[in-house]
Amino acid sequence: MTVFSHPEFDGHERVVFVQEAASGLKAIIAVHDTTLGPALGGCRLWPYAGDEEALTDVLRLSRGMTYKSALAGLSLGGGKSVILGDARALRREPRRAEALFRAFGRAVEGLGGLYTAAEDVGTSVPDLELVGRETGHVAGVAKGQVGDPSPYTAYGVFRGLQAAVTHRLGRNDLKGLRVAVQGLGHVGQGLCEHLAEAGAKLIVADLEQARVEAAVARFGAEPADPAAILAADCDVLAPCALGGILNDETIGALRAKVVAGAANNQLAEPRHGELLRRRGVLYAPDYLINAGGIIVIAYEAGRRGPRFERAAAMAHIDRIHETALEIFGRAEREGIATSTAADRLAEERFKRPGRARAA
Ligand code: NAD
Repeated sequence: MTVFSHPEFDGHERVVFVQEAASGLKAIIAVHDTTLGPALGGCRLWPYAGDEEALTDVLRLSRGMTYKSALAGLSLGGGKSVILGDARALRREPRRAEALFRAFGRAVEGLGGLYTAAEDVGTSVPDLELVGRETGHVAGVAKGQVGDPSPYTAYGVFRGLQAAVTHRLGRNDLKGLRVAVQGLGHVGQGLCEHLAEAGAKLIVADLEQARVEAAVARFGAEPADPAAILAADCDVLAPCALGGILNDETIGALRAKVVAGAANNQLAEPRHGELLRRRGVLYAPDYLINAGGIIVIAYEAGRRGPRFERAAAMAHIDRIHETALEIFGRAEREGIATSTAADRLAEERFKRPGRARAA
């Protein structure tokens, strides 16, 4: 296994391999870039097929956090951690789970604040509370504070979607627009609430029928087959389920003029950003518009008083709208994909921070 010459290494500042025999902890903490501030990122617990797969995942995710936080205008760097293990098996052994998360906490503490851990796939608030017994560098666990960040993510997606509609369709309202929402989970449901309130007509799909029925009853949504939602007859497509859904096949079948949703890594490959542009579809980069969750977690982690400043965090999330318009304008002027314009803006902020601050 290579590290420095790994294809995803991308100049990571620090990569820490952690092992603790008693609990069986095996983890990797990756800190990509701390130019803008200490790294904040989730701790993922996943049954990786091997060390190589875990390393690839943590490097890719950690780099992604640098870009996400930079575009969100946060004074944070990018980092992520992965614990190699099976969450379900671990839940059956609570004592080992406690020892493992505490050992992980000591490793985070050893980085002296360079990295702050948060919840991610496979980990939950109680796990992070165990991590927090060993280190103060853990976010999103304070009771009565943020709780589930999904409503904030949904609000940010809504603001990004509004910006995309303004840019592509020349409208400042959503009244009567047909918006297809793929996935009615934590974020998808919250997004539907904002969209329905703004007068959009919803078309919805989920693998869980009960969620679809609830959206039909609550918002008068039109149900769609999950296999057909991406090609639905709509103005806007909001992918809120899985990544990799924008590929050669699905892009060819899109009828929407705007794609704006919460799902991470929607482009199957970077080149699909350009394919969308050529087809006249305005893509709102996922990592820009789904940053509401990381923004509130950052506010909670950095709070000065006993409660986090919700109004300030919401105002910060609102800025997603402005950043999205900046990116769409730049992409159009330069004749590049919106995903490329987003990457360039993020890089200007963390690779040349003096310039970004002056701007
Ligand atoms: P979730 O697990 O609560 O919901 C996902 C929903 O998608 C589920 O209801 C599931 O049944 C449905 N689904 C899965 N496959 C589907 C398919 N093929 N067709 C239709 N529906 C399908 O997840 P979530 O927290 O709402 O997150 C949604 C997406 O947004 C994920 O990609 C996630 O990584 C991303 N995201 C979430 C947050 C957050 O704050 N929760 C923040 C940033 C990004």
